[in-house]
Amino acid sequence: MRIDLHCHSTASDGTDTPTELVRNAAAAGLDVVALTDHDTTRGHAEAVAALPEGLTLVTGAELSCRLDGVGLHLLAYLFDPEEPALLAERELVRDDRVPRAQAMIAKLNELGVPVTWEQVARIAGDGSVGRPHVASALVELGVVPTVSDAFTADWLADGGRAHVGKHETDPFEAIRLVKAAGGVTVFAHPGASKRGRTVPESAIAGLAAAGLDGIEVDHMDHDPATRARLRGLAKELGLLTTGSSDYHGSRKTCVLGEHTTDPEVYGEITRRAAGAFPVPGAGGTAAR
Ligand code: AMP
Ligand code: FE
Ligand code: FE
Ligand code: ZN
Repeated sequence: MRIDLHCHSTASDGTDTPTELVRNAAAAGLDVVALTDHDTTRGHAEAVAALPEGLTLVTGAELSCRLDGVGLHLLAYLFDPEEPALLAERELVRDDRVPRAQAMIAKLNELGVPVTWEQVARIAGDGSVGRPHVASALVELGVVPTVSDAFTADWLADGGRAHVGKHETDPFEAIRLVKAAGGVTVFAHPGASKRGRTVPESAIAGLAAAGLDGIEVDHMDHDPATRARLRGLAKELGLLTTGSSDYHGSRKTCVLGEHTTDPEVYGEITRRAAGAFPVPGAGGTAAR
């Protein structure tokens, strides 16, 4: 069984539509794929409709959180997408991304970059708008060669010249909300230090005590030493460990199934979840 529990579509900052994502996941030989767009479940219905036979979809989202001034991402799986409190919080974070992107564009204009909201809105389509879309606009304008090159202090990195913060949820509150909606939580790429500051191990212990289910260990942004350290920490704290690609289509270099999750861990995640069930592919109406 090949299980990839962290992927993005055009519902946020990926470049595959949900239909393309599930087809590509099947073509990559995956048995299970999770759709975890930033702060939105908008892609789920399309992914379900297009799901190829033999591929199972885990519905989820990646929630933007902040703890003591440090940004972090919380993967939430199999929660009830209609549960009102979690839905309201997702919408608050997602909606705040629009004025925030516009503020970053204003800063870029002050720096002499002729990027416009129309350009970024076109790139984002109906996806929840984020820095990768602004970064793609900078690539189009020839300001930087690749999306990654926009995540520097000169441009969009945390605290960078054109960076603006957005509303982000307290992770303790996020864990509480996801649990109340029947979902399971996994701390995404907790050791991704090249993206900016990471939370200390003591904070992960605090989140574990508050009901965090697991941490993502096998991830492109973790070097071997970081993975070993995180595996040890998870054992100490009784946390599940996952592996996943964090696939973003052509906006990042990683490929589907680049890292995978142990079937036993996947089984435990599904046993703990009560808000939604994994969806087995029935051939996909849209695929016929
Ligand atoms: P935002 O949620 O709008 O603040 O943007 C954060 C997103 O930017 C992350 O989910 C990644 O997809 C992307 N990102 C963060 N750091 C980098 C980086 N160094 N290179 C490429 N993409 C990045
Ligand atoms: Fe992203
Ligand atoms: Fe993330
Ligand atoms: Zn992600």
